[in-house]
Amino acid sequence: MRFDLITIFPEFFSGPLDHGIIRKAREAGLIDVHVQDLREFTKDRHRTVDDRPFGGGEGMVLKPEPLFEAVESLLGRSVGDAAKQDMQDPDTAIVLMSAAGKLFDQEMARTYSRLERIILLCGRYEGVDERVAEHLATEEVSIGDFVLSGGELPAMLVADAVTRLLPGALGNEASSRNESFSEFQVGTPNGCFVKARSPRDATSSKSRAQIRALLDFPHYTRPADYRGWRVPETLISGNHREVAKWRERKALEKTRRNRPDLLGR
Ligand code: SAH
Repeated sequence: MRFDLITIFPEFFSGPLDHGIIRKAREAGLIDVHVQDLREFTKDRHRTVDDRPFGGGEGMVLKPEPLFEAVESLLGRSVGDAAKQDMQDPDTAIVLMSAAGKLFDQEMARTYSRLERIILLCGRYEGVDERVAEHLATEEVSIGDFVLSGGELPAMLVADAVTRLLPGALGNEASSRNESFSEFQVGTPNGCFVKARSPRDATSSKSRAQIRALLDFPHYTRPADYRGWRVPETLISGNHREVAKWRERKALEKTRRNRPDLLGR
């Protein structure tokens, strides 16, 4: 999968791209990340990417021309409404990072993980000329109900969440299936803690059919006793069935406590 990050701060990404799973995925050729300096698509001496807002008001707005031209140069074809109709590529998303976008979540990350290419447009200042959202981006995405100073962190966050879902990105394939927000969770007879594909697979209680996704269960490691806080006995018991039940119960408790909105009424 290829990511293109379009930004006025290309160096911003040198840290985040060089560590952990993202770094390994790049080295293994699972992802190819290109950082594109937006200013290369300006034509004036000052390499201007922003301008004052029509209608007045505070701050500056990113101009449409450099963004359209940067994407056109990356795709090697024209973009915009007419081009969108004839040539829109179902395997490529052009995502505008925006506090006013659709909320990013694990489901969206899964959908993106099936694409071949994601172009992420990072806004700055007061935001981006609306014609970019209307006629260039295939979607406008927010990473949460708060306002940041630029789209670089949000874009990196999307790239991270998507990358770790690619087959082979995590050392242990099970770990991305057994996480917060992954489908439905059930304890199986053989003691594995797995997530069912549909509510019907989650057999143990009727109410579970209404659960969209649970948070992860709590994890513990050595020491078994840290400052008098002991690891729950069940986890040390060696009884896999009991461990699975315990994890399921704790995941539910934690979801109820921290994210009641995830549970059905
Ligand atoms: N005036 C805008 C905020 C602009 S912040 C508003 O009130 O909605 C500048 C840039 O930061 C945005 O163009 C966007 O690219 C990025 N940004 C800020 N908050 C974000 C969020 N929650 N999700 C995604 N991108 C965000």
